[in-house]
Amino acid sequence: MADRPYIVGNWKMNGTRAMLSEARAIDRSSQRLMKVEVALAPPFTLIHAVHREVEQIGVGAQDCHAAEEGAYTGDISAAMVADAGAKFVILGHSERRENHGETNALLREKSAAALEAGMRVIMCCGETEETRDEGKAESFVTRQLKASLPENLENPADVLTVAYEPIWAIGTGRTPTVDDVASMHKAIRALLVDLYGEEQADEVRILYGGSVKPENAKELLSADEVGGALVGGASLTAESFLGIVLAAAEVQDQ
Ligand code: PEP
Repeated sequence: MADRPYIVGNWKMNGTRAMLSEARAIDRSSQRLMKVEVALAPPFTLIHAVHREVEQIGVGAQDCHAAEEGAYTGDISAAMVADAGAKFVILGHSERRENHGETNALLREKSAAALEAGMRVIMCCGETEETRDEGKAESFVTRQLKASLPENLENPADVLTVAYEPIWAIGTGRTPTVDDVASMHKAIRALLVDLYGEEQADEVRILYGGSVKPENAKELLSADEVGGALVGGASLTAESFLGIVLAAAEVQDQ
């Protein structure tokens, strides 16, 4: 696995310029925690401003359109978010799959567009509670991921991160057991090896996401094959987000 844990904050539809002070504080403290790779995905409207404010942390987008340009009112292309300063795009978040009807096939197109624009992709996947209760979580997630990931990727280790986010754990305060997280991440790793070969797949980080907080971060980040976290609610203040970054640094030291 890639050596540095990757902690990514997804601000979702939160934040005006008043929140730039949080980004600044996260950036300053991250400069003292170089063993952790830290990034933020603010809303489109703040990408450029956050990019200008920070020196150390990565800045990304929460979505992009699959087309290069054209008559798509209200949409934003991969080249546009890259131009604003985004170095990566989160794709396939369950909120976009559900609220915007995003299909695996569309996500494959979006990831190709993001890569073409020179950005990295964080591809999300995750099952509903019903699917988990039916004992089908791993088969569902690996199928979903296989159909969403870009095909014929030559250098996945450089451009791809996977985020496993059980839908029932997002914003609910509930999390899977560490064993369940480890087992899912192992299944995802096996899929990546199938798709891209062992050498490349081994270096792709698989993040866990879903109610990660400073209090549970150490335990979740210590699970086998967990290469970091995608954080929603707890990324909105520097205090809670940095608590998670610190936990990741501690796990590195163990
Ligand atoms: C998310 O939506 O990506 C997420 C992980 O949210 P939260 O941390 O709030 O559960």
